[in-house]
Amino acid sequence: MLEIPGFRLLLDCGLFQGSRDEAHRQNRDVGFDPKSLSAVLLSHAHVDHSGALPVLQKHGFSGKTYLTRATADLTELMLEDSARVQVGDFGYVNKKEQRNGRACVRPLYDTDDVRKLVRRFEGTRYGDMLKITPRVTASFHDASHILGSAAIRVKYTVRGNRTTVLFSSDLGLSNMTILRDPEPPHPCDVLILESTYDDRLHEADGEIMKQKTLDLLTHAKTHKSKIIVPAFAVGRTQELVMWIKELVGEGSSPEDRKRLNSMKGPCVIISASGMCEGGRVVHHLKHAIQDEANVIVFVGFQAEHTLGRKLVEGWDVVPIFGVPTPRRAQIVKLNGLSAHADRQDLLAYVRAIRPGPSKIFLVHGEEKQALSLAAAIQAEQSKIEFTVPHVGSSHEV
Ligand SMILES: [Zn+2]
Repeated sequence: MLEIPGFRLLLDCGLFQGSRDEAHRQNRDVGFDPKSLSAVLLSHAHVDHSGALPVLQKHGFSGKTYLTRATADLTELMLEDSARVQVGDFGYVNKKEQRNGRACVRPLYDTDDVRKLVRRFEGTRYGDMLKITPRVTASFHDASHILGSAAIRVKYTVRGNRTTVLFSSDLGLSNMTILRDPEPPHPCDVLILESTYDDRLHEADGEIMKQKTLDLLTHAKTHKSKIIVPAFAVGRTQELVMWIKELVGEGSSPEDRKRLNSMKGPCVIISASGMCEGGRVVHHLKHAIQDEANVIVFVGFQAEHTLGRKLVEGWDVVPIFGVPTPRRAQIVKLNGLSAHADRQDLLAYVRAIRPGPSKIFLVHGEEKQALSLAAAIQAEQSKIEFTVPHVGSSHEV
């Protein structure tokens, strides 16, 4: 949240993703009074950035949400889906809780809250200068992370001093098949930079990714297995679908299309949610995880304490709907399909800002990654001041 005298501006408002109980506790209370907010600027549609907006609406936020037009379209779909998934998940969990004599949990919001929020979306084009108040302007710049995604540049004037804040949000990669390349970053005084990257650099080579996809399909055919891909509804899943489509087109896929239609297995199931903490994929995992012929493929970042993270870390027994379940299925991580810039990309992004910021806040990553990224940037540009903020802390700029 950017607090300027008389004006409170929120940059993104995502759902916290972690274990079900912890996530629910954190998401119910956003940590401030939504009525006190003047406006929201939304960088992109992913629910870890947009998913708590209806919670604001439900608790009295009545301002506008500024976002790109594509993000407006996508976010409406994503939030309606998020509302429906919650109703479905909580229905299933509540049935179990009631059987055990425990209290029911309620969804964070419903589709009605989503509809009310969406009515106050202000869709804009990349590069347009928006006048939010006479003293605050903002513009959106293509971040190439998912369709519509943007870095947001906010300029404000306080007591005659003009300050420019650049919020990178999630940064994508260059040379992707579906998206444009990211726009080079503009000059700023303060940079709020994401630090969600894996320790490994991307296996960005398309041919390598295609070969890995073919290996998976071949394995599925040989062992009559299920391949389960926990998917973020929008993101690199589209890339995976494209690889499969190309392989089928080239005739190198293990089965042709007609036979795929009539087969019970092998099969590929792509299902939300991406970190396996909710949605249909948890049911698919429940049925497939104990068979060693099956493969679970991760294409995106897995947050701490999520079921997805436990699987990526190779746990032998994992909780599914609260039941300890032995994991015999293979786990495969396709790093090249992450929609996030890697460490080298983030360093290059900071390097490209001319003149550069005097202060950087590293957000949206785990502390260890953020601190290590800070050290790497500081080794190149020693004058920049760094902060890795904790939830709820305030910082003066
Ligand atoms: Zn994202």
